Amino acid sequence: PARPVFAGQLPAGLQTISNIVAVSSCKGGVGKSTVAVNLAYTLADMGARVGIFDADVYGPSLPTMVSPENRLLEMNPEKRTIIPTEYLGVKLVSFGFAGQGRAIMRGPMVSGVINQLLTTTEWGELDYLVIDMPPGTGDIQLTLCQVVPLTAAVIVTTPQKLAFIDVAKGVRMFSKLKVPCVAVVENMCHFDADGKRYYPFGRGSGSQVVQQFGIPHLFDLPIRPNLSASGDSGMPEVVADPQGEVSKIFQDLGICV
Ligand code: ADP
Repeated sequence: PARPVFAGQLPAGLQTISNIVAVSSCKGGVGKSTVAVNLAYTLADMGARVGIFDADVYGPSLPTMVSPENRLLEMNPEKRTIIPTEYLGVKLVSFGFAGQGRAIMRGPMVSGVINQLLTTTEWGELDYLVIDMPPGTGDIQLTLCQVVPLTAAVIVTTPQKLAFIDVAKGVRMFSKLKVPCVAVVENMCHFDADGKRYYPFGRGSGSQVVQQFGIPHLFDLPIRPNLSASGDSGMPEVVADPQGEVSKIFQDLGICV
């Protein structure tokens, strides 16, 4: 797809990337990282060259969700660039791989660190870079969106009515920046037990978002113990069970982005 309107100059480190997809949420804990990681590995499985950038400096999930071995980013001292770590063919960069743990930083510093990590990395030729955005729609997110020419955004939410208000904020932010929101993922929408389907957080706020904002795709991601277990074990669910129900959902999402 064509790049959206982007006012800035494209940073050198990003010039070899065809599509940059933001996975965003307005709150923590709704499954944003789970979606980012599984989407990335699905795109890789479809034959694309993929990287994941974990922009969540305060709570980086990537080192836990993908291959929990002690992996650190390497520097190229001559070029002063960062060499991503790699797992199953997907390039990975996270503040959590920088060996400093969680940071105590103010907003502008966070933006600086994120931008530096993102733009000085030697990504090489990529079809997709999936960005696991920091939760929310504040300055850090805005700055990031202005540095990076995003091709698409995926918004992750949970089914509660309350989440609707937050999603609306996210959609507005991306629409101001002229980034198309291609899909909403309504995570933890239901679970099945004793042959019945339960909707613990209610139903319907996702379809309201789709109708009100004209977002073309809505995906329901069920609560699955496997999804949580695979997140903890460092093996993405779509890799662990490529034929499973969750993988099918991500394949459909992969086609949208
Ligand atoms: P966020 O990035 O929004 O903070 P995470 O992706 O880290 O959220 O998810 C929070 C926790 O919930 C993780 O432990 C993850 O494995 C778990 N989780 C997310 N989605 C599901 C799901 N659909 N079923 C089961 N567990 C899930």
